[in-house]
Amino acid sequence: MPFSVQIRSYAKINWTLDVLFKRDDGYHELRTIYQTVSLHDQLLITETSGAIEVVCDDPRVPTDETNLAFKATQSLREAKGTSKGARIEIQKHLPVAAGLGGGSSNAAATLLALVKLWKLQLDERELFRIAASLGSDVPFFLIGGTAIGVGRGEEVYPIEQMQCENLLLVNPGFAVSTRDAYEKLPRLTRRESASIIPLSLLAAKGISELPLAARNDLEAPVLAAYPEIAEVKRRLLSQGARHALMSGSGATVFGVFDNLHAAERCETELREAGYWAERVRAVDRHEYHATLFQ
Ligand code: ATP
Repeated sequence: MPFSVQIRSYAKINWTLDVLFKRDDGYHELRTIYQTVSLHDQLLITETSGAIEVVCDDPRVPTDETNLAFKATQSLREAKGTSKGARIEIQKHLPVAAGLGGGSSNAAATLLALVKLWKLQLDERELFRIAASLGSDVPFFLIGGTAIGVGRGEEVYPIEQMQCENLLLVNPGFAVSTRDAYEKLPRLTRRESASIIPLSLLAAKGISELPLAARNDLEAPVLAAYPEIAEVKRRLLSQGARHALMSGSGATVFGVFDNLHAAERCETELREAGYWAERVRAVDRHEYHATLFQ
């Protein structure tokens, strides 16, 4: 009987995303506050004698060696010099290429599951190094909860955990590539605002302060190029959201609601209008780790 591990792969939003400048290595220097939310894919990982195989119930997700869970398996195998393999079955609940970190989360969940499945002795630093080599958002998913992301987002620090029960994720049904979103940015010269202190303060003050301070530098250029995303944001705000912001590079927009009733009503209306809409809540770091292997 082959050994298997089940693991959740949570979605994230960005409470804020500051893009400071383009670095010499071509990446953008970021300051962001990540947040895991309750929506998650489900992964079932089974040990094989050597083959790496990915299957997914969503045809938009590649199952070849470009899948980030596949890459994670390969990288871990190389780092540990093992010949073991894995079959990764992904039940997708997250929209794809949606600014919710789906691929990155699948990669991190695969790493965590394989450490268990293959019974590896692995230094945490090595795990973070492998995660960062797979993608900028991957290390965050080793931590979860509320965390500040620095650098290209791969350097993560847990901060005061935000509580937020009534969030609504809305996706207009098309993908925005992360590369495209960054290419739409105007020339950036914000080298001076590199401090992370304002972001830590925002997290310490909590959700009530968000509407005043949070922003996503990718939002204006992406909304200008995709009026449908601007329409989603407008609808969220006109239907009772206290705050609405595009997550990551889009196209998902999240709305923050004061109560369950308002969030439910907006979810129903936006679904009737043909959008993908899903009510979620913030998942803090404690809950994240307590529920990963369920
Ligand atoms: P991020 O916010 O990290 O940029 P995203 O939510 O915008 O991510 P993903 O859902 O990670 O985007 O998908 C980006 C691309 O990655 C997709 O177009 C898809 O082809 C590819 N991909 C590779 N592996 C996966 C995976 N396991 N799940 C989803 N997409 C994947």
